[in-house]
Amino acid sequence: MKNKIGITCSYDYKRSYFFLSHSYFSAIVKAGGVPLLLPAMLDSSHAPAVLENIDALVLTGGGDVDSYLFNEEPHQQQGEVDPPRDHFEIALIREAMKRDLPALCICRGLQVLNVACGGTLYQDLESQRLSPLQHFQRTHRPFPSHSVTIKPKTLLFSILNEKKIRVNSIHHQGIKGLAPELKANARSADGLIEGIEHPGLTFILGVQWHPETLENTPHAQALFRALVEAAKKYNKNSC
Ligand code: MN
Repeated sequence: MKNKIGITCSYDYKRSYFFLSHSYFSAIVKAGGVPLLLPAMLDSSHAPAVLENIDALVLTGGGDVDSYLFNEEPHQQQGEVDPPRDHFEIALIREAMKRDLPALCICRGLQVLNVACGGTLYQDLESQRLSPLQHFQRTHRPFPSHSVTIKPKTLLFSILNEKKIRVNSIHHQGIKGLAPELKANARSADGLIEGIEHPGLTFILGVQWHPETLENTPHAQALFRALVEAAKKYNKNSC
């Protein structure tokens, strides 16, 4: 099988449950992939063994990244953090980059990718970055709220072939300092980085929005289709 997509998930410390929205699974299945859940039970040393068994990776949305990981004390508005998940996901994405294994990093995932490469985050956009633009939308997730401009000659542009799209926006954190090895491929009207990629690798892509819940939107479906295609190619090349 050439399309096994590993996906990370959240953990509920009160109920001892791993959990993840159904929308990630259905977006991957719809795109022709087989989703395999990767709970952060394993410690980061297991990342190579995990990646042996998948053809692509999705870092999913969730809570805030621990500010300790980018050398900052926690801001008052930092939400609940999950250190084991942070460490596991950082190990997974670093190992994926080492192997050039395709990865789609969604919302928190984009932030994890940036931090894993040495970048920093706004812990709370509202108080730390003055902008009138609403990044934590009050509208339901399946509906887009703000636009993003896509940079030509990027992986993201090659997938979407559109200069401007409308996306949903459900984040109170965002990229402050972009990691030197990464490149911004999309920005909102207020200049915030909304998409990133690794220019030296085949398919390391991060988006600040949630394509998995923009179910009937062609540009959102295109991201998952592109990921599954990249997974098939990766598998072919690594055999
Ligand atoms: Mn946004």
